[in-house]
Amino acid sequence: MKHSPYLLYSDGKGNIFEDDTLYATGRAGWDAYPVEPDDWIPLPDGGSMYELPGRRGIGIDVKTGEMRLCEKGWAVAAFIPPAHTGLFIAAYETGPDAPTLPLFCYTAAGWYNNQFYVTAVRIEQDIRQECAGYDDTKIKSGTATLLEAYPHNRLVKHLMENCCLTYSCPAARNFALARWECPVPSSPACNANCIGCISFQPQEESIPSTQDRLTFKPTAEEIVEFTVPHLQTAPYPIVSFGQGCEGEPLLMWETIREAIIEIRKHTARGSININTNGSKPDAVKALCEAGLNSIRVSTNSARRPIYEAYYRPNNYTFDDIVESLKVMRHYGGWSSINYFVFPGMTDSEDEYEALRTLIKETKLSMIQWRNFNIDPDWYLGRIGVTETGDCLGVKQLQDLIHEEFPDVKYGYFNPPMERIKGNYETDFAHY
Ligand code: SF4
Repeated sequence: MKHSPYLLYSDGKGNIFEDDTLYATGRAGWDAYPVEPDDWIPLPDGGSMYELPGRRGIGIDVKTGEMRLCEKGWAVAAFIPPAHTGLFIAAYETGPDAPTLPLFCYTAAGWYNNQFYVTAVRIEQDIRQECAGYDDTKIKSGTATLLEAYPHNRLVKHLMENCCLTYSCPAARNFALARWECPVPSSPACNANCIGCISFQPQEESIPSTQDRLTFKPTAEEIVEFTVPHLQTAPYPIVSFGQGCEGEPLLMWETIREAIIEIRKHTARGSININTNGSKPDAVKALCEAGLNSIRVSTNSARRPIYEAYYRPNNYTFDDIVESLKVMRHYGGWSSINYFVFPGMTDSEDEYEALRTLIKETKLSMIQWRNFNIDPDWYLGRIGVTETGDCLGVKQLQDLIHEEFPDVKYGYFNPPMERIKGNYETDFAHY
């Protein structure tokens, strides 16, 4: 790269332009920084560009090297596709009347060599959510086949009509295509109150949740009916409790336990996973004894105050999520954290130390380096962070953790049993 990409701006009507008087910068915490050439990659397939109303981009003057605002239009950011981790947030100054941004990630972007560039790294080689892999015609016929095969199953109806055909959920679409990870939402309620909850936003908030929460409690029979055939026939099969269209699955642990016991009577194939806030270690213990294979605990931080300020938990604490990770390892299962990466917070010195402690204490199997889908100013403001201190850089943090804990795997998706038991570097969905 001969020089940094140029800053992007929009005319507020959805048209994006480069400003070749300014180089693009990246944000970490509350501050803008120049970005190293190696931290830029071409925008991956499936990525989108967003204009950010009421915000002015921060760039570096190509002549003077000074940082200044772009007054030509609104700031622009990229929504990078799954399997990639953002290294910097888009850098901008927010105007007094700027609306809160919806629940997406806002990665730094620029223009170079006639194409969009973003600050990101591909962290996962599994192709299960590559947009090129989704054929709408096949998805529609797969949906019709499932609805016909399970005419009385409310969960299949929800997954096909809402998740697959309305929300275009990648996991529900893979289920319709009879492959890989199948989603199994089960809980209409939650025992946390995450500020950026994607399935429920209080009336008084100005932004919508990205999908509506399940409105019924499926039975174990409804769950077993479609998960057994999926585990028996799909390539690299996984069934995953805990999805974006529900509350907390551990609140439905008795039904899930009943389902797991019944599933394992029919097939030993594949992995049974739960994506959860990890709030109930006793329930996790019961599910492990029933046959649960892996757990993914979501967290915005390995630090208690930052975690509790965001999750606002009801009747559980940070200690419970740590205990849930330990329980899974105690039963020999696979444990991941669904780590919401926020440059400036995730790669701060304090977070690095806390993450090291969490890995040691829980014997963690994997870190899923996920992008935090939230308005940066809104998030930091709501958790009361005015100063983020020195930061290492997200890539640097990933290298340091890998150096100290080489057995801790990196990725973006729950691994299939073939990858857990086989060769982690090769046994997964690929072209
Ligand atoms: S744990 Fe999940 S469902 Fe519950 S409030 Fe948080 S994001 Fe929402």
